[in-house]
Amino acid sequence: MRMSRLTAIAAVAVLSLGVAACGGDDGDDAGSGSGSGASGIVGKAEKDKKLVIGVKADQPGLGLQTGSAYEGFDIEIAKIIAKGLGVPESGIEWKTTVSANREPFIQQGTVDLVVATYTINDERKTKVNFAGPYYTAGQDLLVPTGSDITGPESLDGKKVCSVSGSTPAKRIQTDYPKAQLQQFDAYSKCITALAGNQVDAVTTDDIILAGYAAQDQYAGKFKVVGKPFSTEPYGIGLKKDDSAGCKKINEILTAAGTDGSYKAAWDNTLGKSGTPAPTLDTSKLTNCG
Ligand code: GLU
Repeated sequence: MRMSRLTAIAAVAVLSLGVAACGGDDGDDAGSGSGSGASGIVGKAEKDKKLVIGVKADQPGLGLQTGSAYEGFDIEIAKIIAKGLGVPESGIEWKTTVSANREPFIQQGTVDLVVATYTINDERKTKVNFAGPYYTAGQDLLVPTGSDITGPESLDGKKVCSVSGSTPAKRIQTDYPKAQLQQFDAYSKCITALAGNQVDAVTTDDIILAGYAAQDQYAGKFKVVGKPFSTEPYGIGLKKDDSAGCKKINEILTAAGTDGSYKAAWDNTLGKSGTPAPTLDTSKLTNCG
């Protein structure tokens, strides 16, 4: 349906930032920092100059931990948001999340924000708020180079690995029930299983799969099928009641789209593969609740 892998990734990466996206003013301007009334992320950032940000640690190009350092596109987006909130890089505490603990980490206050290939959807919106999207991915399949799997419709009876608490795992269960779904807590474990021939395919967002396929140790071994079969808009998760914080983050993203920092975040991470930075479409920042 959608061209080759990287073209597809680039094509679906038409971004979504909306200027007036959050709609009408709800009249609650909490977070202005003018005293104890600012209870959300804006007030916390102003007061403490610190933020705890949940990110992935095992996704090359997006969120990858090496020693104590984290790098990737999500990490750069998180730094942009922190800076816009007045928090220096030294004030960021990175906290590794997996797909299944993102909502609980936000709800329990374990993290202030989540920037972790985190799809915005209605079910999650009942628990958390979402700024963004800052990128749009699509679910795809990673298979051994010689595999005859050509798309989700050829998964009947095949062992497919994904991560619990993720939208791709759920989609396999609901839309492709004849696939044998194996779930781990992190995608790197699925990749190890694929390399060891314990599963026939790994499924998650195309941009995540492309990062694994490009790793030196798997050179020539895997291919991304390149037919995305969902839309995964990536949001920045925060507390459900922090509407003011959500709007502020959308303003920061909007500015990043025009001041070159969004493009630099891409160019210094995922863009190294040669894929040009997505265009920030400022019309879709409509998710703040
Ligand atoms: N974007 C999808 C999700 O949020 C898959 C990637 C992930 O699990 O982080 O569930």
